Amino acid sequence: MYAITTRWHLLKHPHSLRARRRLHAALQAPTVTPTATIITVTPGVNPNSNLSMAASANPKLAAGDQGLHSTWSHRAWVAAGCASLLVSLAKSISAACDSGLLLEPFLAAAAGYVLADLGTGVYHWGIDNYGGPSTPVFGAQIDAFQGHHRWPWIITRREFANNLHALGRVMALAMLPFDLATDDAVVHAFAAVFGGCIMFSQLFHAWAHGTKSRLPPLVVALQDLGLLVSRGEHAAHHRPPYNGNYCIVSGVWNEFLDKHRVFEAMEMVIFFRLGVRPRSWSEPESEWMEHAGDDGNRTSHGMQEI
Ligand SMILES: [Zn+2]
Ligand SMILES: [Zn+2]
Repeated sequence: MYAITTRWHLLKHPHSLRARRRLHAALQAPTVTPTATIITVTPGVNPNSNLSMAASANPKLAAGDQGLHSTWSHRAWVAAGCASLLVSLAKSISAACDSGLLLEPFLAAAAGYVLADLGTGVYHWGIDNYGGPSTPVFGAQIDAFQGHHRWPWIITRREFANNLHALGRVMALAMLPFDLATDDAVVHAFAAVFGGCIMFSQLFHAWAHGTKSRLPPLVVALQDLGLLVSRGEHAAHHRPPYNGNYCIVSGVWNEFLDKHRVFEAMEMVIFFRLGVRPRSWSEPESEWMEHAGDDGNRTSHGMQEI
């Protein structure tokens, strides 16, 4: 048991002492002046450290080719995703009314809401830890999430359709077979709520990065009730050791998954079966750590005042 524990620690933290010293030195160094028009350097960051070297990169890159604004293409995909979800929801309600079955569709919808949170956690864990920008299909998402770790505040500046269009496209294509294949009330109740929560998870994620005073009161209330992922809970995802709190719908699964080290167990299985190390086993370097931005309200961990 001791050997396994020691090996696990070495696998996860091969350079921990060196990296911790480097980070400590960076945080103790003198304040520097802004280095670019859109970037201001966080007070206390050494310009010669890895942190500030990474901050010299352009955060506009993290916004992607389309910047932060919504295009008509973005709006069209979001509209298509919403339409496919609404068709499914309408079919569920219609079939439930016709059959008189209400409890089963309601339970299916509740299951869709709970499992969507788990789904976002698994997906987020996967793209945070494996693959790269050139990975087929998922490369753009992997790159976008790495950019999000460097410049978390950018998500709060994205326009609605700009933030949701990728998941809108997925939902439009994924829901179409369901919409055409069945009229079952239970199936549609589950699919509509599960798909809706997945599609809007990026909006919930953006709200989790928001400032309490700037968010709609209803959103703050839902976050405080635990029905949407809370600002404080998601802030923990952006702090070392960067390997938990992956779920971004309600966050209801985060405590269970992190407490029981479910993702760490999956990482071990993948490592010993395939020899692939997750990014979270490396000490945080530029791809995980927040880079300085232009938001004066940010804390040292990239979250705005919560
Ligand atoms: Zn992440
Ligand atoms: Zn985030």
